[in-house]
Amino acid sequence: MTEFAKKLLHWAQHNGRKDLPWQQNPTAYRVWVSEVMLQQTQASTVVPYFNRFLNRFPTLRQLAKASEDEVLEYWSGLGYYRRARHLRMAALEIVETHNGEVPASVDALARLPGIGRSTAGAIVALAFKRTATILDGNVRRVLSRFYAVKGERGAAKTEKQLWSHAEDNTPAKQVDLYTQAVMDLGATICVRSNPKCSLCPLASKCKAHRQGNEADYPIPAPRRALRVQRARFFMLIDDRGACLLQKRPPNGVWASLWSPPQHPHTTPVSVFIEAIGLSTASIAKTFTGKKFRHAFSHYQLEIEPIYVFLQGSCRGAAQDQNYRWHHPGERAEFGLSAVAVKLLTEIDSDGAS
Ligand code: SF4
Repeated sequence: MTEFAKKLLHWAQHNGRKDLPWQQNPTAYRVWVSEVMLQQTQASTVVPYFNRFLNRFPTLRQLAKASEDEVLEYWSGLGYYRRARHLRMAALEIVETHNGEVPASVDALARLPGIGRSTAGAIVALAFKRTATILDGNVRRVLSRFYAVKGERGAAKTEKQLWSHAEDNTPAKQVDLYTQAVMDLGATICVRSNPKCSLCPLASKCKAHRQGNEADYPIPAPRRALRVQRARFFMLIDDRGACLLQKRPPNGVWASLWSPPQHPHTTPVSVFIEAIGLSTASIAKTFTGKKFRHAFSHYQLEIEPIYVFLQGSCRGAAQDQNYRWHHPGERAEFGLSAVAVKLLTEIDSDGAS
């Protein structure tokens, strides 16, 4: 066992996290759900979502039986919804091809939707207690600093180097404890800003710490200017206060979630109204809301909300199954896009009328 692993295991005995919900009864299914939720999300945010999700889908078979809309509803607010769709797809595949049992090998796991090499390694190490390596965001940060890895984040050469360090340090014994320990160190001590090096068991051998430039690692990828795309979101509100939502296509941003209809920023209200089978005579009032931006990884979406208040009941409009009327004050039993949550909350708190 390397010195790195030994020190971490010793440190974790008294300092590791032991009360996270997925650490209790760490079955492969529970570990898998937690690892997917923890991708790009902090543990403190994940805990309530994990509990609610596991309460509703306590077993893999129950998840596989659920509709996509329901799974997305239970993911709503956690973001990165592709993770939820992949989780359900993988559950279906496990029922069909693995008789409902989560496979115990990294290769078989990594062939399932939404499970990468690191998530597969975490499931094998934490749930099956077999030797497997992880390299999630926390572990990347620890290793980048400990070895002062020079390459930029995300570059193929850097990845190769980090995986090699991660594998070298993965012990053959106590791999579950080691895996939890290295993740815990990254989450609680070797944090992104102001790492607590004085409390770190690796400090005496950590290259970045000895150089005094911990904050320089991991070296960020060069920043690209994000392009801005503009769009109009039509908030169509009927005389009972219900708002028209449209199901988004199965691919692309906010895929399969419900959202106010999105159109190019030049689309006039009249064109939108007629496209859904209404006449402009049914409009009581319209106004334009304050523009705001939503950032995606590759671009920013500048959103211009257009509020259209209708007179009389217009439930006959927008009749296809990709539309539904939803009252902002009611619980949505389906997944909502981030922009839908924001705009519906504003209407509910009277911010738009
Ligand atoms: S010494 Fe500091 S920078 Fe190095 S691994 Fe520990 S916390 Fe991170």
